[in-house]
Amino acid sequence: MRRFFNFKDRSLKIKILVMYIVSLSIIGVAGYSYYIYSNIKIIQKGSDIYRDNLLKTDKQSAINAVNIAIRNINNFYQDYKDGKIDENNAKKKSIRVVYSIRYNIGENLSNYVWINTANGIMVAEPTKPDLNGKNVWNFKDKNGVYLFRNMASVVKTREYGFVKYCWPKLGLPENTCFPKTSYVKLFYPWNWIVGSGFYLDNINKEVASYIKRRKSEIFHTIILSIIFGGIFSLIAGLFFFFVISKMVSYLKQVAELSRNFLYEDVSEKLKLPYKTKDELGYLIRNFNAFIEESYKLASFKKTVEEDRDIDAVYERIKNIAETELGFEEFNMYEVNNSKNSLKQVIAPDGKMFCKQDILVDSDLCRAVRTANDINSFEKENVCLSFAYEKDKNYVCIPLMISGSVGGIAQVVFDKNIKYEDVDGKIKRLKRYLKEVAPVVEAKRLLSQLKETTMKDPLTGLYNRRFLDEFASTFAASVKRRSAKAGILMCDIDFFKQVNDVYGHNIGDEVLKAITRSISKSIREADIAIRFGGEEFLILLQDADNEKAKEISERIRQTVEASEIVASSNVIKKTISIGISIFPEDAENLWKCIKYSDVAMYKAKTTGRNKVVRFESSMWESDEY
Ligand code: GH3
Ligand code: MG
Ligand code: MG
Repeated sequence: MRRFFNFKDRSLKIKILVMYIVSLSIIGVAGYSYYIYSNIKIIQKGSDIYRDNLLKTDKQSAINAVNIAIRNINNFYQDYKDGKIDENNAKKKSIRVVYSIRYNIGENLSNYVWINTANGIMVAEPTKPDLNGKNVWNFKDKNGVYLFRNMASVVKTREYGFVKYCWPKLGLPENTCFPKTSYVKLFYPWNWIVGSGFYLDNINKEVASYIKRRKSEIFHTIILSIIFGGIFSLIAGLFFFFVISKMVSYLKQVAELSRNFLYEDVSEKLKLPYKTKDELGYLIRNFNAFIEESYKLASFKKTVEEDRDIDAVYERIKNIAETELGFEEFNMYEVNNSKNSLKQVIAPDGKMFCKQDILVDSDLCRAVRTANDINSFEKENVCLSFAYEKDKNYVCIPLMISGSVGGIAQVVFDKNIKYEDVDGKIKRLKRYLKEVAPVVEAKRLLSQLKETTMKDPLTGLYNRRFLDEFASTFAASVKRRSAKAGILMCDIDFFKQVNDVYGHNIGDEVLKAITRSISKSIREADIAIRFGGEEFLILLQDADNEKAKEISERIRQTVEASEIVASSNVIKKTISIGISIFPEDAENLWKCIKYSDVAMYKAKTTGRNKVVRFESSMWESDEY
């Protein structure tokens, strides 16, 4: 029972239905009250007019009756004057005629005419015949009114007029008394007052029946309107309830589907079908958009987690920014916190919108320095390192990794684009970046970890382990691009001597110095690997025979020319280099490496400090 009254927890359907019934009731009560009130007013006014009309007609009827009587009396009086009849006879005839006048004839009562003399002798009275011939001058009605004296005074002053008193009705007992208004007129030759009246209670009765009639009319109208109004309200209510139920059931579906988030991953199948453009449609569209975006975000995160390395992740972000969000100029920089430098990892057509200085001093980048979004729409020329401030606007978003700025995403727009048009997309980009930040962090940590296990601590070059992992990728990439790669095997000449003469430590220093000479001589994209103790393998990207020879010669000469100073000793060393070309010499990279080793051995045996290009005659065996 308590639960039933807990209205606020009821379904929306019930709430709206109850509101419908309540408002309908309020409208009904107010409407009918007003209708009844105004009709009562109309009836009152109508009954007053009706009463006035009745009074008027009754008065006129009384006047007519009296006039008719007097005309007849006058006729008899003329006959008497003309000597046709005597006076007594004329009076008798007159009285007979007066007795016969009846009008407004109703059920056992009707109006009549009477005669009395102006000095109070009753001549002809149909209701009280026993009064005839008697002096009624002192006659009082029930209320103490001297009615005959009143009549006398009326006719004395104006010849005719109305008087009010109480009198029995014709056909009813003599001792009864009803309020009556009478018209009296003097027939002066005989000093007769001729009168006729009507009873006020008859009028009251008629007015009452008029009111009763009108009231029953209104009552019928109300009953009919309640019946038809009720039927229509019921039909409207049912229709209303049907529509509301439909809407509420959509709302319920949204709620139920939202609950699925607790148990299952976001997926496209959680979307709802609803096509209308009303508020519910808006809610459902937003719900669907939310599902879609969450789904995209979730699958984006899953994809990047499974990506091989950080570069693949950057590629993925670039894709989202360009295709999903439609940014035409999207950049990304990676922050190297230990070196205080930046590296551009995503560049639209290799372009860079910031001044080059930021690459070597990351603090010049305002987004890195402040760890806040930098938005030139909000504040023009906010960052001094942006190089295109005249033509472009930019939004730079820091990618937070372990509490510090690990990267910067930069979107560049033409000046004519308004911020309102890109605000939503920027927000979406930020959500993607937020999702991807932990993945970037993990991948970067992993690649740092790999660096340490893949690099030789003494020289800082890659080690054999790196080669083992990298060889197949390298070979595949060279072949895919139909390129050529130079494979150089380098070995320091008579290195053992250094150890023997100066000791192992100085030997290490010399090794490092020669590593620097090699690094200096090769290109950025080339990869130097410490292959053995004092042997180096160099993979030259996109290098044919000529290029490989050129670079090898440069290495040889640089090593030869450099004077290595270690503990006040000046040491000079030379290097022997063997060259092979992959996949020209062999389809198998390892085989090519062997060939370069063979060529290097040839250099050793033919005098050292030289570059030797592998030739097939140097290697007959099938093994390597
Ligand atoms: P060759 O011209 O024939 O190559 O003569 P070589 O003396 O260089 O002969 P070989 O290549 O056989 O000798 C390699 C020597 O390099 C052996 C080893 O003592 C030394 N060595 C290898 N790794 C290191 C190292 O990390 N530090 C030092 N100091 N010496 C090393
Ligand atoms: Mg050696
Ligand atoms: Mg050697």
